[in-house]
Amino acid sequence: MMNDFPLEPDRAAMAEMGDLVLGRVIDHVESLPDRPAGNLVDPRLTADLVESFLSPPPEAAGDLKALLDRLDRAVDCALETSAPGYLAYIPGSGLYSSALAEFYARGINKYPSLAFAAPALVALEEGVLRWIARDVCGLPDGSTGLLTTGGSMATFSAVVAARHDRLGEDLADGTVYVTAYAHHSVAKAARLAGIGAHRIRTVPCIDDLRMDVTAAATMIGADRAAGLRPFLLVGSAGTTDTGTVDPLPAMADLAAREDLWFHIDAAYGGFFRLTERGRRRLAGTERADSITLDPHKTLFLPFGTGTLVVRDPAKLYAAHEGTGNYFQEVVSAGGLPNYAHMGPELSHEVRGLRAWIPLHLHGVSAFREALDEKLDLAERVHDALASIPALEVPWRPDLSTVAFRVRPSDDSAAALEAADQATRELLARINDDPRTLLSSTVTHGRQTIRVCVLGHHTHADRIDELVDLIAARAEQV
Ligand SMILES: *Cc1c(COP(=O)(O)O)cnc(C)c1O
Repeated sequence: MMNDFPLEPDRAAMAEMGDLVLGRVIDHVESLPDRPAGNLVDPRLTADLVESFLSPPPEAAGDLKALLDRLDRAVDCALETSAPGYLAYIPGSGLYSSALAEFYARGINKYPSLAFAAPALVALEEGVLRWIARDVCGLPDGSTGLLTTGGSMATFSAVVAARHDRLGEDLADGTVYVTAYAHHSVAKAARLAGIGAHRIRTVPCIDDLRMDVTAAATMIGADRAAGLRPFLLVGSAGTTDTGTVDPLPAMADLAAREDLWFHIDAAYGGFFRLTERGRRRLAGTERADSITLDPHKTLFLPFGTGTLVVRDPAKLYAAHEGTGNYFQEVVSAGGLPNYAHMGPELSHEVRGLRAWIPLHLHGVSAFREALDEKLDLAERVHDALASIPALEVPWRPDLSTVAFRVRPSDDSAAALEAADQATRELLARINDDPRTLLSSTVTHGRQTIRVCVLGHHTHADRIDELVDLIAARAEQV
């Protein structure tokens, strides 16, 4: 039987297949403004669709157009994370140029995990990393890092490097210091790195949700006195909850004084350092031993790209290096890094290209301007919501996340509980509008709605629409 889709298509077939896929993607991107932001249909209605995708592949060839038709339906029942009205969690907006870069990278399929195998492509990846480490984060010459699949993997390698450097082989007594607003990936990374949950200390926060550095110092002292080995202090450069930036300079001082590894989780906030305001608010980042950033958030890349940068790459190598007899022909290549020895992955795709093409094509200024716009929009949300009497907007945003809740009638436990319930109802009513999606968190024990402005498709028109919607819904509280 003749197969219309052989493993080795001819040129005409490749072009036709490419056109089909590209056309769908362009249609999708163009339709984003009109697509529902919270496209999560009732699971009962999608059960058949979900079931259909669980079935195994057929023996015989299929048809690309029919498969794309099926895929369109799956795409229609998913959160529209790139839509301009998607302001929930941390939006991931998916630059088109990066998607094309990704297609190119997969198409040429080179091996950048060991420098000798593709030196110039490794240099390309390294150029992106050095720019992030030195120009964005302010780390010294010689610093670099690793492109990962996301922030969680970056933090994992940071914790492994810190553990290896400060504890050696004996992990049992090592302790880690975070706040309650640190991303859960930090505790997860520590656990994966062999640090027990009982060795992770939650340092209290002051009122504005920042780490109480004096309390951290006391806890470190108490742990040392008890014979434990404090080794890692983690600051947030933009918490996921509220975008709050910890007091990084004071934390850097503390880490230096106590000889702790200082890691900064800047998965959300890091790239705001491209802006003047961001650089001011994220001062102290340059004093970290290691930093997590997520290009798939704040550089607008499609999901799947995180970054770890470190002050001293030798410490990353020391913790991750490994080799085998099958690598006899591997040679070093002009001072270029072997990424396979800097993290848990051996093979990876040409990961740098999806950042390199957008950065070189649009120019850094395009990103700086877009991020400045997000900071402006968050201020705009803050000021507009602060003028609505029914709402409480406790903090001016450090970055691009605004937190608000229904104002309680007084401070009594009953009033706070009623306000929490009203906040939940308000969120549900806002999210009834398909053009927008917000999410929630808990701050100081109180239900809190959050607006995270981060998509590169999100502009003032959509923000004004959101503010009007919130004002109208808040009146019904
Ligand atoms: C998103 C996020 C993470 C986790 O990153 P992933 O890329 O989702 O693995 C860690 N820390 C913060 C502050 C985040 O916002």
